Amino acid sequence: MIRKSLLMIPGPIEFDPEVLIELGKPTVSHVAPDFIEIFGNTIEQMRVLFQSPDGQPFLVAGSGTLAMDLAGANLTEPGDRALVVNTGYFGDRFGDILNRYGAEVQHIRGEIGNIPDIQAVEQALEQSSYKLMTITHVDTSTGVLNKVKEFAALGRKYNVLVIVDGVCSLAAEELKMSEWGVDVAFTASQKAVGVPPGLALLVAGPRAMQAFHQRKTPVANYYADWYNWLPVMQAYEARKAAYFGTPAVNLVRALHVSLNQILQEGLAARTARHRRISKVFKSALLALNLEQVPQNPDIAAATMTAPYYPQGIQPAEFLSRVSAEGVVLAGGLHPEIRTKYFRIGHMGSVNIADAITTIAAVESGLALSGYRFEPGAGLSAAMQAYLQS
Ligand SMILES: *Cc1c(COP(=O)(O)O)cnc(C)c1O
Repeated sequence: MIRKSLLMIPGPIEFDPEVLIELGKPTVSHVAPDFIEIFGNTIEQMRVLFQSPDGQPFLVAGSGTLAMDLAGANLTEPGDRALVVNTGYFGDRFGDILNRYGAEVQHIRGEIGNIPDIQAVEQALEQSSYKLMTITHVDTSTGVLNKVKEFAALGRKYNVLVIVDGVCSLAAEELKMSEWGVDVAFTASQKAVGVPPGLALLVAGPRAMQAFHQRKTPVANYYADWYNWLPVMQAYEARKAAYFGTPAVNLVRALHVSLNQILQEGLAARTARHRRISKVFKSALLALNLEQVPQNPDIAAATMTAPYYPQGIQPAEFLSRVSAEGVVLAGGLHPEIRTKYFRIGHMGSVNIADAITTIAAVESGLALSGYRFEPGAGLSAAMQAYLQS
């Protein structure tokens, strides 16, 4: 018997059937007039999604790590100084990328489950001159939601380019690129944007493009070089074809369908819906006495939940029991606590029925693993949170 299970991890997520149907249609030429129109319109929609009316979108085949690489390769030259506002695994990765392109990287770390001290970041910015700073909006290894607005304001104050990794946030958490002074933001298709893996979406604001044009050395990455992609993006937006590398035609069309859905729902309504569903999960886990990695609700992401296991739970056994109930969850990712917690993703078209199914499977997995609690406590708290919000 084949029964589809519910994919509740922080990407890839459950995809809308309309998006999947679009993906499965016959592939057209990347220079067909219909496709040119769709690609051009998708580029325009990206400015709306990123809230960056004067930004330059880049839509390139690759994963979220390519989006990080695009930002790193195009904005770093050997000897540049970079500050990483580090909230976990993806901050470390960004540091590695910047380092690879010759930057001198300084990390300012928060404790696990917390964001770095804002004064420590300001002090670093005061003490030496940085070209850029990176902020992970939601670090998927901890579920910590960073205070992008506050850190970006510091970036502006010290005239440092602000790069935001929005891979686990964009299209679900509030991110106002232009208003908050963010110079580059990016995401990947398989997270809250709701399209199977394979597309990197990045928008570079005017200061970032200016810094790029003022480079003294060539971009040290051929595929990622904006000089190769900029004419392509500009051409398609002007409803003309251009070629550098074959666009992921089916994925771009699927993204167009998904962005239509997202913009139709409205960004504010979509953010509010994610907050509501997130509260359902967080209330359920609290009722089950499971602690969460983010140290307080103020810095807990709405796109995912990261609960610590109770004492005595074997991670692999628990996850396979939950999976046997039809729900796929993710294990830990942060190297220092990897075996101590698990992760639930709740992005995209996720609704209360998905939440209840997931919480039921979590309760079942916990009970079968020997954890003692009042059966239904999580489900009851979930429904209360849902109906009260
Ligand atoms: C998933 C993720 C990435 C990496 O994306 P891939 O598509 O796996 O390469 C980067 N940053 C964050 C915050 C993520 O959640």
